Amino acid sequence: MSEGRILFVDHAAVLGGAELSLLDIAIALRERSNVVLFEHGPFEERLRANGVAVRILGGSGALRSIKKSSTIPSARSVLAVSNLARDLARTAREHEVLYANSPKSFLVSAAAAVIARRPVIWHLRDIIDPTHFSAANIRLMVLAANTRAARVIANSRATADAFVAAGGKPQLVTVVYNGIDPRPFEEATPVSRATLGIDEDAFVVGSFSRLHPWKGLRVLFDALEELPNVQALIVGGALFSGEAEFEMELRSRANTDPLRGRVHLVGARDDVPALMATCDVIVHAAIAPEPFGRVIVEALLARRPLIAANAGGVREIVENGTMAILTPPGDVAALRDAIELLSSHPGRAALMMEAGARHVRASFSRDAMIAGVTRVIEDVLA
Ligand code: UDP
Repeated sequence: MSEGRILFVDHAAVLGGAELSLLDIAIALRERSNVVLFEHGPFEERLRANGVAVRILGGSGALRSIKKSSTIPSARSVLAVSNLARDLARTAREHEVLYANSPKSFLVSAAAAVIARRPVIWHLRDIIDPTHFSAANIRLMVLAANTRAARVIANSRATADAFVAAGGKPQLVTVVYNGIDPRPFEEATPVSRATLGIDEDAFVVGSFSRLHPWKGLRVLFDALEELPNVQALIVGGALFSGEAEFEMELRSRANTDPLRGRVHLVGARDDVPALMATCDVIVHAAIAPEPFGRVIVEALLARRPLIAANAGGVREIVENGTMAILTPPGDVAALRDAIELLSSHPGRAALMMEAGARHVRASFSRDAMIAGVTRVIEDVLA
């Protein structure tokens, strides 16, 4: 394999799904790579703890003013991007290829790549459509990709299709599915329900996601209102902008009848496998298409029956009815019925879970993801 040095770039230093996935890739390629982040935070610490070299540029979070919904770029954000691009270009010259892990870091990397005369790969982990981004941001990202990206790695067919539908060049795109190490899920011991405030004999539905409205917690809460004997473990924190307000809404609802005492919000945690093992069913009720959905694979690796919204990358991970129950996004009654079905038919739930667990273990391995990503890097360096 060509030994060109790789510069991974991510704007975020919180631990979202994109960052956890890059963590695995950067660890596997740490002998020949550095990571640049645009702010300090837990992702930086996790990378360093695993022997990955990290540099922080623009340490004050200079890009925070740019939102996915922004329409006209402010003078401040244009200045922030060009200053960061100049700084990043200096680091990029010590590497053979830039590898951007998020839309914001791709825009900065695309500019830096011009200055430093280096190719740039974009690992696209978002569905570029109007439910997630403003029209202006979609145009800007697609233009930058079509003119500057050597390759675009999409984390699912759904992500790739949305990029092409938005005007992205199909020949740039390779689909590389996320892969997850099964071991932490196989070795996990359940967290005691008592320490989480959950009744020992309750039927427990688990949700694992950051607290953004599109992840569908309102839909889950609506369904739980109609299921008085079910309790819920809600794992995840407010990571990105707008999520703190949503967390307050959820906490207040969880403290009000009819959910009071049945819905337990435990915030962001780093013991997801053990918490999954504590649940009877895992639900992912996103109301917008999930680009991939690491938690879908993780729930099955944890050998828990799964209910998920039937959209986006989720449909490429599991087959509806044989490996999981997929319900229409936003459909409260369908979600309620699915929870009732799995709680009253544990044998059927276990059969689906076993089929799903076998499938995700074989099809979404961390090694396959790293091999896929490495092939694209090699092609670009060839
Ligand atoms: N996760 C976590 N702690 C939490 C909640 C979630 O470590 O409290 C992890 C979860 O296990 C998964 C990732 O965050 O690996 C979320 O990835 P996903 O693709 O499901 O969603 P994203 O955050 O990328 O939208």
